[in-house]
Amino acid sequence: MKAGIIGLPNVGKSTLFNCLSNSKAQSANFPFCTIEPNIGKVNVPDKRLITLTDLINPKQTIPASIEIVDIAGLVKGASKGEGLGNQFLSNIRETDALIHVLRCFEDSNVTHVDGIINPINDKETVEFELQLKDLETLEKKKDSLKRIASSGDKNALKELEVINDYYNHISSGKSARSLIIDDNSCIQGLNLLTLKPVLYVCNVDENSISGNQYTEMVKKSIINEQAEMQIISAAIEADINELDSVNDRKEFLQEIGLEEPGVNKIISSAYSLLGLQTFFTAGEKEVRAWTIKKGSLAPEAAGVIHTDFEKGFIRAEVISYDDRVKFKTEQACREAGKISIEGKNYQVCDGDVIHFRFNI
Ligand code: GDP
Repeated sequence: MKAGIIGLPNVGKSTLFNCLSNSKAQSANFPFCTIEPNIGKVNVPDKRLITLTDLINPKQTIPASIEIVDIAGLVKGASKGEGLGNQFLSNIRETDALIHVLRCFEDSNVTHVDGIINPINDKETVEFELQLKDLETLEKKKDSLKRIASSGDKNALKELEVINDYYNHISSGKSARSLIIDDNSCIQGLNLLTLKPVLYVCNVDENSISGNQYTEMVKKSIINEQAEMQIISAAIEADINELDSVNDRKEFLQEIGLEEPGVNKIISSAYSLLGLQTFFTAGEKEVRAWTIKKGSLAPEAAGVIHTDFEKGFIRAEVISYDDRVKFKTEQACREAGKISIEGKNYQVCDGDVIHFRFNI
């Protein structure tokens, strides 16, 4: 699962990407890796993993991770090939969710492409390009559906109606995600860019971490969108990242009145935006957080660990995170009747601590 960082040039995308993929602050003892210069594997901060580690004292602890991609090169006209144009748009197509960075800081040393700070204009510029590309995609689909519908195919007619609804919605300057339709299964395969879930990240100056006039503008503008928003100062995050010792970071965060680095909030939001949740395996050798799609059944969760676990799935022995912490040992959980034996139709809950039984 991948989240892509998008936005106009000079809004702080790369600064944010570096903080996310290099984030010592959120992953002091955990390894991170940069897959390619613009793709980072980012650990998902999770206090529960630290609590379980303290409780079990395993040889190693492995956090869940997601991929973040820094997508550079969007300028006005990208959908018509300006800047990196279509390259940029196809990079977006490959992501599952978008982190849209908006410049909400003033700094005369950092040029703005339009010469004026206006996050709403910036947001619209980026979205306009994505919308134009979506209209192109929908147009093609309309043409092929019209041909099929002309022979009286009822399904094609129905689909055509839905496609037209999206077409008209996007033509009026809106994004596909804000159109609520009961059954939109016919557009799922089209991979529309503006249907992807989005997190707006307002990049503010060091003195505005609780918000400023620009973040207020953004907040108002997304009221009717299916979208989330976070405020961050990429400059502060970069400073946090410079500090090597855990104590120095703690002190610095306290000084500026932050409980945790802003990147943690962004990673957590992106994780939830991607529709993901966590289950744990917990033994003396290793405590580990694993990522699954919300709603996954026990065998699918087992398959994330190893395909053999899924093929040979017999049952899952499940302890809720709260019980695992409350009763401290697996034995105590057993004696208290807190281990439930679940079959292949069990829907895994966020935080479940699971031991799979399987047969190869
Ligand atoms: P990108 O083009 O969107 O990837 O933007 P960059 O991350 O390369 O940042 C462009 C310039 O803005 C760099 O010189 C950064 O140091 C600067 N910058 C990024 N975030 C902030 C911020 O929060 N405050 C200030 N003052 N400068 C920033």
